[in-house]
Amino acid sequence: MKIRELVREDIRDLVPYEPHLFSNVVKLDANENPYPFPTEVVQDIFARLNGEVFTRYPDPAGLDLKVKIAEVNSTGPDNVVLGNGSDELIQLILQTFGGPGKRVIIPVPTFSMYNIHGRITGTVPVEVPRDEKFNLNLDELLTEMRHPDTRITYLATPNNPSGNCVPADEIRKLLTEVESLVVADEAYIDFGGETCLPLLEDYPNLIILRSFSKVAIAGLRVGYLIARPEVTRELLKVKQPYNVNTFSQMTALAVLNNWPVFREQIEKIVSERERLKMELGSIPGIRVYPSQANFILFKVPVPAGELHRQLVEEGVLVRWGLGRTHGLPECLRVTVGTRQENDLFLEKIRKILIP
Ligand SMILES: *Cc1c(COP(=O)(O)O)cnc(C)c1O
Repeated sequence: MKIRELVREDIRDLVPYEPHLFSNVVKLDANENPYPFPTEVVQDIFARLNGEVFTRYPDPAGLDLKVKIAEVNSTGPDNVVLGNGSDELIQLILQTFGGPGKRVIIPVPTFSMYNIHGRITGTVPVEVPRDEKFNLNLDELLTEMRHPDTRITYLATPNNPSGNCVPADEIRKLLTEVESLVVADEAYIDFGGETCLPLLEDYPNLIILRSFSKVAIAGLRVGYLIARPEVTRELLKVKQPYNVNTFSQMTALAVLNNWPVFREQIEKIVSERERLKMELGSIPGIRVYPSQANFILFKVPVPAGELHRQLVEEGVLVRWGLGRTHGLPECLRVTVGTRQENDLFLEKIRKILIP
């Protein structure tokens, strides 16, 4: 018996997500927050830990956290769905509204999970290329979005890996012209760009996707979406009841309750991003793409894979392999770290590129 032949034919060729394991490197590859999680917030969480956090099932509605999320976004708890990272919500939306014979529209290059979850859920991923500045090709995109089998369009804003935003008026235009769902993935919205949240008032087909990973707790896997109750109601039919564990719910709530601490970190990351853009852009041969996120995409004058390998040898890990995954073989992506980490990265890349 060949197990492989028992696997669904449409997903047989998928490859497992590869962990990028390097030791003794400064990690500037995964768009995480470089600062340590504040000890006063850890103490606050630990003070509220009790045996039940471990023995009892989590609150399937995640009500305390949803109420707080609703409060900070001036909406209602019925508008919020919690996910085990926003990755899970990307899949949940496809499970609920996509499926065999349905299409999901993806302007590329962008976050790879839209395509992968499309395939996993049997939805047909339709990729529409962005222009050379990574802006949307609105006409081409609308043609695909208007196809009767289209159910969902994923728009990351700021976009990963390019860092640029989709202007809110473009999203408004798309929402006006189609009768399918538009997901504005705002995973990086805390670092820049304009939220699409106000558009929810006019458009029932909009879903706003958010993540706690980039600002605070990538390790605890918490994301959420905001949509009209007629959308969240359908998603809750499909959502796993206990998808977000109690500890993660508590910690995400503590993050929002201590937001000023994280806002300070965000401000430092944003000002470091601007410095990094300037310094990186002043290295001969490097082209820096505009970014509103906590990372910078840049084009290099030498083979990118080789430069990545040399940087690892010097103790700095950036995101590479963008040729295979995103059609950007000449590019690398660096996450904005602490001032010292960014200085180390700049020192090493100068050492390699400037003879
Ligand atoms: C990192 C990322 C996510 C996933 O975030 P999680 O909440 O950690 O699952 C979603 N969208 C984009 C564009 C991302 O870059």
